[in-house]
Amino acid sequence: ATILAIETSCDETAAAVVIGGREIRSNIVASQIASHRRFGGVVPEVASRHHMENIVPVVAEALEVAGLSFYELDAVAVTYGPGLVGALLVGLAYAKSLAYALDKPLIGVHHLLGHIYAGFLQYPELPLPAVCLVVSGGHTNLVYLESHTRRRILGSTRDDAAGEAFDKVARVLGLPYPGGPELEKLAREGDPRAVSFPRAWLEEGSLDFSFSGLKSAVINYLHHAQQTGAEVNPADVAASFQAAVVEVLVTKTIQAARRFNACSILLAGGVAANGFLRREMAAAAREAALPFFCPEPRLCTDNAAMIACAAYYQYLRRDFAPLDLNAIPDLPLY
Ligand code: ATP
Ligand code: MG
Ligand code: FE
Repeated sequence: ATILAIETSCDETAAAVVIGGREIRSNIVASQIASHRRFGGVVPEVASRHHMENIVPVVAEALEVAGLSFYELDAVAVTYGPGLVGALLVGLAYAKSLAYALDKPLIGVHHLLGHIYAGFLQYPELPLPAVCLVVSGGHTNLVYLESHTRRRILGSTRDDAAGEAFDKVARVLGLPYPGGPELEKLAREGDPRAVSFPRAWLEEGSLDFSFSGLKSAVINYLHHAQQTGAEVNPADVAASFQAAVVEVLVTKTIQAARRFNACSILLAGGVAANGFLRREMAAAAREAALPFFCPEPRLCTDNAAMIACAAYYQYLRRDFAPLDLNAIPDLPLY
């Protein structure tokens, strides 16, 4: 099946054509980073307006690069949540109109399932059951993937998402938006053992996460240094913060995989683009003798190819959406 997918949940307007859930014929991402940078974050109204300007050319480019016409598509997929409602609605209105005009099925995709399916896009034979750590800008979840239709949330963040913590700490370090990749770059020059920031393990055996305490610890450390006139090495702070986040993410993922007898570990979501996290998770999985999978970085951050892949598995079981599908900003993952 040839699926066109559209993703507009946040600040990237994305469209992709994927065949059979694995062959990426095109994967176009129009980022709005430049427009949001001067505000230090995503401004919802600005994002919606950019999506409106970008959606038609981005889809046209996805088809052109794929070398296909609208008539060769078997289905139209679209992210319908979670995300910014005004942003989601642009992609949704476009996708619904197109599905109606072409008389092809519409497939509504959960954004986080899209992140997870970036794994199946690149590794269709990924062994199940798997434990998947989904770490992104707005979410942090450990998910048990039993099959393509059965899954269970094993743990979630109780406050900030991992990506949100990266972005906020980057901001107090004076790094430009979006902070995650900038913080990673700075951390390469620093010593991860320079500052001992707290690790929130929570109750014994808990697979939940918490990053707001760590974020506050970094802010307090910087304020204290400022007040006492102590020397601060921003690279050391970045490296030490990153090490604290990654240690907890890796440890709990391995614990979950062991406890639930997973056959593999999957790392997904925007933060999975982080090289230090990828390397640490790979090393820990190797030590635990668990096969480890992580999509290449450009498939970890928001894109539409991952949405097309998730949609393909829905297509196989005829999990189609009605044409009155609505955007659900807080759509739960189940
Ligand atoms: P969600 O998927 O939860 O709705 P989102 O779609 O806005 O949120 P993603 O695109 O999935 O987020 O991921 C973006 C997040 O990933 C941002 O917080 C960003 O800082 C973080 N991120 C991206 N690259 C890196 C990196 N190399 N190191 C750390 N964090 C990163
Ligand atoms: Mg984004
Ligand atoms: Fe995302």
